Amino acid sequence: MPPAASERPTRIVVDLDHLAFNLRSIRAHVGVPVMGIVKANAYGHGLVPVALHLQAQGVEQLGVAFVEEGIALRNAGVTAPVLVLGGIFGPQVAQFILHDLEITVSSLDKLRQVEAAAQALGRKAVIHLKIDTGMERIGVHSYSSRAFVEAAVASPWCVLKGIYSHLACSDDPNSPMTLQQLERFFDACSHIERLGAPMPIRHLANSGGVLHFPATWLDMVRPGIVLYGVQPDPASLRTIEVKPVMSLASQVVYFKVVKAGHPVSYGATWAPEHDTRVVTIPIGYGDGYPRALSSRGEVLIRGHRYSIVGRVCMDQFMVDIGQDSAFNEDEVVLIGSQGDDAITAEALAQRAGIIPYEILVGLNDRIPREYRGGSAER
Ligand SMILES: *Cc1c(COP(=O)(O)O)cnc(C)c1O
Repeated sequence: MPPAASERPTRIVVDLDHLAFNLRSIRAHVGVPVMGIVKANAYGHGLVPVALHLQAQGVEQLGVAFVEEGIALRNAGVTAPVLVLGGIFGPQVAQFILHDLEITVSSLDKLRQVEAAAQALGRKAVIHLKIDTGMERIGVHSYSSRAFVEAAVASPWCVLKGIYSHLACSDDPNSPMTLQQLERFFDACSHIERLGAPMPIRHLANSGGVLHFPATWLDMVRPGIVLYGVQPDPASLRTIEVKPVMSLASQVVYFKVVKAGHPVSYGATWAPEHDTRVVTIPIGYGDGYPRALSSRGEVLIRGHRYSIVGRVCMDQFMVDIGQDSAFNEDEVVLIGSQGDDAITAEALAQRAGIIPYEILVGLNDRIPREYRGGSAER
């Protein structure tokens, strides 16, 4: 159905049934609870609608990067447990506690800041300890984690709900790094065992871990990209059946014939050898469609695959359709399927020389999002 005149014809369609399918697939595969990662606007799919749908599907936990994302979830009525994965700033701690958000504690100093804020509010903070096992991003190094872990176990103002680390190389099924990280993680957990304290939830696996390394599943997994039906890396194995949640389409806004030798778009980087038909598509890097796809990207129109020619502009790009026909308002698929053909986020990323994450996350709020499926919960 064509969109209403007031709505931009370029749109992202988010298939909530595919999201639910992927969650079920992951669950059946790993057999442990799932923390659905919804940071960065749910990888471009829309933070609140995705979180609400995952919650309706009974996801055990949600994960975001920043406290602001967590607060947005609470303001939208999301009641599922939410862990903020990023490093904290002391002055923000009260906001975590007031919004019932779980805190990543990544150093002894930060543990003290959390305790002080919790005590001042008279309310316990729910925390997950972050152990660095090889990422060197945030977290206490596993080899010097003993005092940190012991202080957290002893803390009267913190509820120790989880302990976790992050995998650096799990996208590659052959990297030896992952099992090394797992060993280091067990070392950190052993400090809790030695105290005889109850073991909190141990979680380690991102999408790569979920796909490739069963030993990393432990008590909970933290898939992001695979939940959205996209593989983290060209080297990743399709060990779980998932379906792409996002599709992106626009419409032809202009048709013309370009004469042989007449260049197209900024910088005059491309010109046809023979007279050819060229259509213009009203989406560009101002929407987050990568400029790196200049003369490299492809789209589907009338069931055929065509190349982008010349540079992608801020709001438009051009496509060479040769001697074929296309008309104004014809559907143009940028991500998704049309006829028997499909363009995946993975394929687009490879053409652009970037990772699929950047494709999804880059598509910004200038593009309207439409939600399909999932009607049972709404
Ligand atoms: C982003 C993130 C994830 C999810 O990563 P994917 O590769 O998208 O599965 C998991 N854990 C942490 C700590 C993250 O920052």
